[in-house]
Amino acid sequence: MKFRDDSLRLNDPDLLRQKGFIGGVWCDAASGDSMAILSPADATPVGCVPMFATGEIREAVRAAQEASRGWRTLTPRQRGAVMRRWAELILVNIDDLASILTAEQGKPLAEARAEVTGSAGFVDWFAEEGRRAYGEVIPPPDGTRRTIVVREPIGVVGAITPWNFPSSMVARKCAPALAAGCTIILKPAPQTPFSALALAAIAERAGVPAGVINIVTGDAARIGGELTCNPAVRKLSFTGSTAVGKLLMAQCANTVKRVSLELGGHAPFIVFADADLDMAVQGLIAAKFRNAGQTCVAANRIYLHESIYNAFASKLVCLVGALKVGHGTSPGVQIGPLISEAALRKVELQIAEAIEGGARVLCGGKRHQLGGTFFEPTVLGEVNDGMLAAREETFGPVAPLLRFREEAEVLQRANDTPYGLTGYFYTSDHGRVWRAAEGLETGIVGVNVGVTAFEAAPFGGVKESGFGREGARQGLDEYLTTKYVCVGGL
Ligand code: ADP
Repeated sequence: MKFRDDSLRLNDPDLLRQKGFIGGVWCDAASGDSMAILSPADATPVGCVPMFATGEIREAVRAAQEASRGWRTLTPRQRGAVMRRWAELILVNIDDLASILTAEQGKPLAEARAEVTGSAGFVDWFAEEGRRAYGEVIPPPDGTRRTIVVREPIGVVGAITPWNFPSSMVARKCAPALAAGCTIILKPAPQTPFSALALAAIAERAGVPAGVINIVTGDAARIGGELTCNPAVRKLSFTGSTAVGKLLMAQCANTVKRVSLELGGHAPFIVFADADLDMAVQGLIAAKFRNAGQTCVAANRIYLHESIYNAFASKLVCLVGALKVGHGTSPGVQIGPLISEAALRKVELQIAEAIEGGARVLCGGKRHQLGGTFFEPTVLGEVNDGMLAAREETFGPVAPLLRFREEAEVLQRANDTPYGLTGYFYTSDHGRVWRAAEGLETGIVGVNVGVTAFEAAPFGGVKESGFGREGARQGLDEYLTTKYVCVGGL
């Protein structure tokens, strides 16, 4: 299938791969089945990818197993050299990678470029960190023994990624896996396979050996079933919804796989009376409206101290009302389309339910005049804890404002959720910084800042937001196993 939209003029059209990548071979499904991928902005086709059968997924696992023998025995320095080339080539091709990302996902081109830069950042950082998979020497219990701990690659990894960050989620799993000496079979989200396939094409050019990275496309449950049940797969890394994460975790039980899960979030964003309001409003714009609100770290419940509620709300409405909505490739656009009609309906439902309960639309509130899945950036005032917008992840450009009085009260309300990925707060009180940072039941805390993630920081949640960390040295640990060696008879 040809791409119809003129906006996708790639410098290197070979980066739009419409095939899977198994054992170093770019292949179609033997059945000939494929699925079309449409741009969320205007439903133009971006291309097609194969619908692989279970046998072909099994073949990918076999390829990863075979490649593992060579890859794990390279030194970290040798693996790092290949990975650094991969990172460099990602940046060389950033224009094309960003165009592909915006075409399949919809986000503004500037955000797509930032994401691709982040992907290169993960690969580059882990290329180096692989050298620090240190073990330990333990003082032995008697003089006849020596006791040593070594870290080894866990083996073949299955990975499943979502559509909201089609590039960086792939890099964030592949980079530590490869650095640790693991090989990987990755299933990208059905909406956004082309960023993953392009990254794999670049990895191949960089010299990543055949079978080290495999990309499979097709029916999610079928691929997930094989990756979770095949005993040769020793670890599953999943980013997506809490519901699917629970299902995959259960499926992994049978073969006792290591699992890491990065699931839904429901981030509180608290503005205390002593906060710098201008800084807080700017932070909220980033934390709420990046990727049209479709991030798991999106500020979802905005708690404002009653004394600054009105002042904050009016500053926020001014900025939100000025956000430019449109096609991700149009200059200056800040808010792209939502991923699907279903996503749009969820946003509409939350808003309608809130209004019925007494909330007020301070700006936006309805489908954008551009049509399709574009939605107006929205601020809802007078939201309360019982409303859907305050109880469920929105995944859209809607900022619900709630009032609070006391520090202890707002922390208790912020924690009153099964989720625990990110929490944000703004204050200028030194003591409160520590009380609130320690009081929030989340894996990540942003203090006076609306964007926290980067490759050297451990990203991940607590409670039903999952477990395991991505990025940082903790991210490498996820792909290593500990072996204790006891040498006796000295
Ligand atoms: P969302 O609703 O945001 O798309 P999902 O959790 O459904 O979140 O999707 C995240 C990833 O999980 C995607 O790659 C999707 O294809 C995959 N997925 C969904 N259902 C299953 C399943 N039953 N088994 C394996 N993967 C799945």
